[in-house]
Amino acid sequence: MIEFISVTKKYPNGALALDDINLKIADGEFIFIVGPSGAGKSTLLKLITRETSPTSGTILLNEEDILKIPKNKIPVLRRRIGTVFQDFKLLLTKTVFENVAVPLEVLGYKESEIEKQVSEALDKVGLLEKANSFPLQLSGGEVQRTSIARAIISKPQVLLADEPTGDLDPKNSLEVVSLIEKINKEDKTTILMATHNAQIVNHFKKRVVNLKKGKIESDVKEGRYEAA
Ligand code: ADP
Repeated sequence: MIEFISVTKKYPNGALALDDINLKIADGEFIFIVGPSGAGKSTLLKLITRETSPTSGTILLNEEDILKIPKNKIPVLRRRIGTVFQDFKLLLTKTVFENVAVPLEVLGYKESEIEKQVSEALDKVGLLEKANSFPLQLSGGEVQRTSIARAIISKPQVLLADEPTGDLDPKNSLEVVSLIEKINKEDKTTILMATHNAQIVNHFKKRVVNLKKGKIESDVKEGRYEAA
């Protein structure tokens, strides 16, 4: 469970990114966060990983106040939360396999364990046959699937995706979001996906939280999005 209680975020330059947000996200939900550019979508996601902190309010993850987590424990928090971004940069000199292995190497996993878990993750995203390819040899959809494999390698409770289809054509966009839906269904991973891709939102019929100027304008169970 993730809970935002009266969360306001004002950046030092005065931009009011989020204005008194109250939001409850149950385990295993799949939510689209929609709204025009500047509505506060990215800020909402960045608050969950403690990349930024609110000006006021409380954020709970499994009833724990994440704002009270000491700085040296933030990596532990982030291990519970996978992230995928539009401009996700794979390491160009590493293969798909090596890119996906990075988080486990950082944690000091044994080579045999890394081999097993990376293979599982690549199988899940349908990229086993590309394990030894380099990022520049991949299509946009394959790059994004690699970044998803890397995001789920530590079996996070929550997956945050910020415009993951931003650079993709409609066919690849559908494939990438179908994959995220599969992770939601099979692994019970909670999904928060920020997007302004109305076609995608309307195809998948999930809960839709619509932000406008930092406020929740609507929150609908099987919602739709009509981009302005
Ligand atoms: P979205 O993801 O919906 O496009 P953002 O969360 O990126 O919205 O931005 C919300 C508002 O906060 C915008 O007005 C934006 O300019 C501002 N903002 C975002 N990040 C920063 C930052 N690091 N410093 C100052 N203002 C920011």
